[in-house]
Amino acid sequence: MRDERRVALEAIASEVRVCTRCRLHEGRTRAVPGEGDPDTEVAFVGEGPGLNEDREGRPFIGRAGGMLTRLLASVGWRREDVFITNVVKCRPPDNRDPLPDEMAACAPYLQRQLAVLDPAVVVTLGRFSMETFIPGARISQAHGTTHPVDAATGARKALAFAMYHPAAALRSTGVERTSREDMARVPSVLVQAREWRGDPVLPAASPAADAVDRALPADGAILDHPAAEERVVVEPAAGGGTPARAAVAAVEPGSDDASQLTLFQ
Ligand code: URA
Ligand code: SF4
Repeated sequence: MRDERRVALEAIASEVRVCTRCRLHEGRTRAVPGEGDPDTEVAFVGEGPGLNEDREGRPFIGRAGGMLTRLLASVGWRREDVFITNVVKCRPPDNRDPLPDEMAACAPYLQRQLAVLDPAVVVTLGRFSMETFIPGARISQAHGTTHPVDAATGARKALAFAMYHPAAALRSTGVERTSREDMARVPSVLVQAREWRGDPVLPAASPAADAVDRALPADGAILDHPAAEERVVVEPAAGGGTPARAAVAAVEPGSDDASQLTLFQ
């Protein structure tokens, strides 16, 4: 599985590196396909590469990346345990917002990455990524909440979990605190998503396959995890189709909740 996924992800990355489907290819130094554990259960999706990412061809390696790495570390996870990518794979000039036609042109790459990864959880970083997975949501309300993902995104059966963009956390200690609180929920969201998908519910909510192997007791017994007490309540869609939305377990938006931020909300 691991090698098949690695090969499939590398094939997508090779296409991304030479892609000319939208105008963003004109200004890029290097495209940034994304990286991480091919067998992870958790994908983090940001907005688009910045200056450092454009230089190196790797996602989230600048200051926002440092913040993301610290947030991951706060729940005992490492970058290499998850998959990290972006809605657009090439840097918008002057870090402007990606335009709708650019996001549409690039969407098939993200869809194909998610189809390969089949993540249980998609963590959206910032409002452009959130709009892809939780259309119509407002980040001040939706951060810290879970929503079933439409399979048209490429993620077959995943819960989306919205977070502020790490760059917003760099600019406001209030957002940083909120982001830490939100990140603290992600391991339990993974446990919920495993249950919802019918995946084995493992003791430690480690997102990487090798970490899960390490965490499994030798006899393979499934242990209770305190976080598993939280449940995602899925409301059936009218007419019995795909569940429309999950119950929202919201973190109360803080009073100093990033209202001054426009770029990454
Ligand atoms: N900001 C993003 O949205 N993505 C990156 O890869 C880096 C910064
Ligand atoms: Fe291609 Fe996406 Fe880069 Fe546009 S942003 S050129 S669609 S890889």
